[in-house]
Order: sequence, then structure tokens, then C-alpha cells
Amino acid sequence: MDLDAYRTEAEGFVSEISREYYRHFAGLQDELGIEAVYARHPGLFTRAAVEELRAALGDGAAAGDEARRRRYLLDFAVEGLLGRATRTQEAELAKREAELSLEIEGERIGFRESAVEQANEPDRDRRERIETARLAAIEERLNPLHEEVLETQHTVARELGWASYREMCAECKGIDLASLARETAAFSAATAAAYPDVVDAPLRRAVGVGLDAARRADLPRFFRCAEADARFPAASLVPALRDTLDRLGIDLDAQPNVVVDVERRPKKSPRAFCAPVRVPQEIHLVVPPIGGRDDYVALFHEAGHAEHYAHADPGLAFEFRVLGDNSVTEGFAFLFDHLIEDPEWLRRHLGGELDPELAAHVRAVRLLFVRRYAAKLGYELELHGAERPLEELAEDYAARLSAAVGVPWPSVTYLADVDPGFYAAAYLRAWALETHLRAALRESLGPAWFDEPEAGDFLRRLWREGQRRDAAELLAEEIGPPSRRLDFGAMLADLELEATPAPSRSR
Ligand SMILES: [Zn+2]
Repeated sequence: MDLDAYRTEAEGFVSEISREYYRHFAGLQDELGIEAVYARHPGLFTRAAVEELRAALGDGAAAGDEARRRRYLLDFAVEGLLGRATRTQEAELAKREAELSLEIEGERIGFRESAVEQANEPDRDRRERIETARLAAIEERLNPLHEEVLETQHTVARELGWASYREMCAECKGIDLASLARETAAFSAATAAAYPDVVDAPLRRAVGVGLDAARRADLPRFFRCAEADARFPAASLVPALRDTLDRLGIDLDAQPNVVVDVERRPKKSPRAFCAPVRVPQEIHLVVPPIGGRDDYVALFHEAGHAEHYAHADPGLAFEFRVLGDNSVTEGFAFLFDHLIEDPEWLRRHLGGELDPELAAHVRAVRLLFVRRYAAKLGYELELHGAERPLEELAEDYAARLSAAVGVPWPSVTYLADVDPGFYAAAYLRAWALETHLRAALRESLGPAWFDEPEAGDFLRRLWREGQRRDAAELLAEEIGPPSRRLDFGAMLADLELEATPAPSRSR
């Protein structure tokens, strides 16, 4: 196989796909022309390409960066092949989700809006009726397609020569999923006793009942925390980002490669997003200028991705600029979105204090999310490991999620709640990376590290190499000390669930 020709074509494909997503979700074009992009690159995602890339990786001739590049390419080819194998069902799922509506007491609401409706609905019973209708729609209209997708993923993984989809992902992504699951299970065990106390009061304030009586339907309203919105006005949304970047030595308006789109357009996505169309030359940061706490979090998260991509060395190999371990880019995105709950950042950049109730809320939601994703990872290892009957898996999913979150969890979402390629693992590793990185920045630069130009210098140095190294390597080799592992100890300390360990030398 001509690896360089494959790389060139792969980069073209990624760029074309990103442009389609960008133009569609920015509201610039109605169609999402993914099919046409795949059709223009018929040779990229064939079984032969996967086999040749696997052989190129296994032949032992490549070491160091060349070996990494080949593994990232293999992961890209496998993901693309699976994406193509399931594209019909995925397109049908998207179509049904967009068309489905739920009938709630004679009123129709869109399936996709239903979580937003729940978040805005003060009446618990109506939240529950939305839940019941949504779960019924998932079971009847979506689960048959989700089952087909799952079967195809498992069949293709075996046809490609792996023992299971799980083995395939572990090898292509170079992540020891079993050991990560042990770490996260230990985190869940360590926080089990404190969890009800951390969550109960904020939950009661937001939805009117504590953990003993709460239902899954109450959670979107709990996460939303609409009471805090007044503190986060639309007019300050982009200026807050501009000022924050400015302190880090980044002039957002002068970055030729970061295109910020704040225009209002009827079909623009209601969530901020980042589209790295050409890395690092053309990165789009698309912002719906709405305001409210959620929008600040979304914008800062996406800005973290945008700056990570925008600062990649243009001379780096394509695999390092665009592919690799997504725990790294997610870690930088979390570092930025965490600022929205940082008391020192709030005081300096938005004026005013982080009131104790909001602080308790964000702590509870963070703990809930990490426990939820830990449970998801444990379940996904079962789902994608040895073949088990679907009913058994659905029960296993509900039992794990109920135990982790502390509310009765429905089994119906056992397939809809799963992202392909163990993305749950990337989020968990990113959360761990972010807490270690932030602790190191605080330790060397103080609680207002984000206002220190040195923090900007440090981040830009890490960003230059894109995702050449994975999250664990970055932590041990750059954030340090070298013995530091990508574990959840810093997260426990950050959540004040354990005595803060003795400070260690950072960077
Ligand atoms: Zn992200």
C-alpha cells in the first residue's frame, strides 16, 4: 500500500466531511452531503485497506512516530469502514429522530426537543409523561434500527479478524479499556458513600425532590440550572471568551485561521460547535449568541477545541494534526469550559461571586456525570465483548446506571445511550487529564492561572503537537511528574471528596 497516497486522500476526506458538517449546522446549506463525500473516496474504507494498514502496523518495521501514525490511520480506516457499513441505518435513525413527535396530553412535541422540554418543565408529572412517551418511541421506532447497527458493528469486527468489537477498539485506539474500567469503578466505589449527600440538596433545590424520590425524568431540569442564567448574559458571551483568550496571549480577532461565526441564521445549530475543516489553516467556531449558563459552557468547550486545532504545527503529519487520541482535545475543551464554574474566573471575567448554591450544583453534576460514564464504560465492555442476549444486556445497563446515578434508570436506552468506538472512554480520560492539568496550572501559577501569559505559553507548546501523544503520555511527559498516571485521584481531590494529596512539582 502507498501509505503517503492513503494519507493525502484521508486528509481530503476529513476536510470535506468537516466542511459538510460545518455548512449544514451553521445553517448555510440544507443538505448534509455525507454520502457524496464517501462516494468520492471509494478506496479509503475497504476491507483491503484495513488489512493492509493492519499489516503495515504489525510488520515491525515501523517504530516511534511512524508506528503511531500507522495506528492512527488504522483506527481511521476501521471507523470509516464501520461508518459506511452502518450508514443506511444511521441515516434512517437521524430521519426518524427528526420526524418523530410525542403526544403529551393532546399536544405534540418533537422527539429531539423533548429533553429541552423536560429541562424547562417545572411540573414533575408532565416531565414524567414526556419521559414515558419518549421511551415508548425509542422502543418502538428506534431500537430495531439500533439493534441492526450493533449487529453490523459486531459482525464487521469479527470479519476483520478481531475477537470482538471491544478487542478491535482497544487495539486500534491503543487504550487498555479493562484497566480504565477498573480505575473508574474504583472511583465510583470511593465516592459511593458521599454521593447522596453531594447530590441531594442541589437536586432538591432544582427539582423539588431529593435523591430518594427523584426520577430520570427530573435530571434534564437538574442539569439545566436555569436559576443561574441571569448571571450569564448573551451580551457578554463572546467578549468573555475574547478577554479570556487575550490574557493567555491569544488575540481571537487577529487569528486568521479561526473564523468566529456569531451571525443569527434560522437554521443554525442551537449549540456552539467547532469544525476543524483544515488543521490548522481553517477552523470554524460557530456560536449561537443566545446566553445563559449552558451556552457559556458550550462556547468555552468548543473554543478549547478550536484553539487546540488552530495552534497545531502546520508541518506536523496529518495523523497528528487530525487523528489520534481524542481524550487530548476533549481535555483542553474541558479545561476551557471548567472556567465557567471557576470562582476566580467568574469574579475576574464576569464580575460577582460563585454563590455557594451554584458551587454545590456544579460539584453534584460533575460527580454524577463521572459516575454515570464510569457505569456506561463498564456496561459497554459487556455490550461489545462476548455475545450476550440483548434482554440481559438491557437489564445490565439499567442496573449499573441505577446504582451509579441513584435514580431508577430505564433499560430502553441501552443502545441509544452508546456512542461508537468507546467514546465514553475518551471523555473519562479527558476528565482525568483536565483535573491533573488544571491542578498543575494552579499549583505553579496560582488560582488565577488563566490570567497568566505563562499559562498561554505552556498551552500553546502542548497544542503545537496536536494529538501526537495520547493523554497518558502527555500527562507523564509534559504535566508530570513522570510517575503521574492518568488516574482519578486528582478528580477526587478536586471534588473535595478526599484530602488533597501533598503538592508535587508540576510541568
Ligand atoms: Zn468536545
